[in-house]
Amino acid sequence: MGLWLIAGPVVAAGFASFTAYGAVHPRAQIFGATLFRTPHPQQLALTFDDGPNPAITPKLLDLLDRHRAKATFFVIGRYVRQFPALVKEIAARGHLLGNHTDSHPNLFFCAPAETRDELLRCTEAIQQAAGLEPRWFRPPFGFRSPWLGGIVHRQGMHTVMWSLLPGDWRDKSADWLTARMQPIADHARKKLPPGSGYGGGLLGDILCLHDGYHAAQNADRTRTLAALEFWLPRWRDLGLEFVTISQAAGKAVEG
Ligand SMILES: [Zn+2]
Repeated sequence: MGLWLIAGPVVAAGFASFTAYGAVHPRAQIFGATLFRTPHPQQLALTFDDGPNPAITPKLLDLLDRHRAKATFFVIGRYVRQFPALVKEIAARGHLLGNHTDSHPNLFFCAPAETRDELLRCTEAIQQAAGLEPRWFRPPFGFRSPWLGGIVHRQGMHTVMWSLLPGDWRDKSADWLTARMQPIADHARKKLPPGSGYGGGLLGDILCLHDGYHAAQNADRTRTLAALEFWLPRWRDLGLEFVTISQAAGKAVEG
């Protein structure tokens, strides 16, 4: 396992403020180890949550193909059952599928049995659609509970958070969203050597965007596509390499 990627868990703090921090902060390790950066400043992991979405995902796949970019899709199980062919297509085009629960609940309020079922049902849906088992899990809304880490681990997965969450679900313009993604280019220009920056060398970005919407199908994510249309060629010109989460984490975690 690429241990430099995954900070070790610390003893759970009993204070409510620490609990709230641990439940939602992407870099908090209170509720178990998570992946929130790639190991190299020039590696960018694009991740898309809340699909598959028949209104957007096919266009996104074409856009990624045009820029020869591979990404990771954290899909919702009940949507996978609605559009299994689309999920198969995501995998067939060389992207990675991840588990984003079956019905997108806030897991902070889910008991262990319900949490286990949410993850299992999503994995079964992905298996049915694409014939493979996901190795990566992202909690809905980024919310975790004290027992989530153990459940994810026992189901053979690792938890993935993010380093940048631009907020592409907000009712803002494409220009606003494009500007919110500027930090990735800023990080790439700095070209910091491993060990010299935030997180002890965990320097590459994991970008969290959305091709779907957990509460309804056919969500309009055209602004997400527009912002990517702007950035993908510029990121490549800056020397960034587009990697899936498995590629970022290395063979040890894949196997
Ligand atoms: Zn989500």
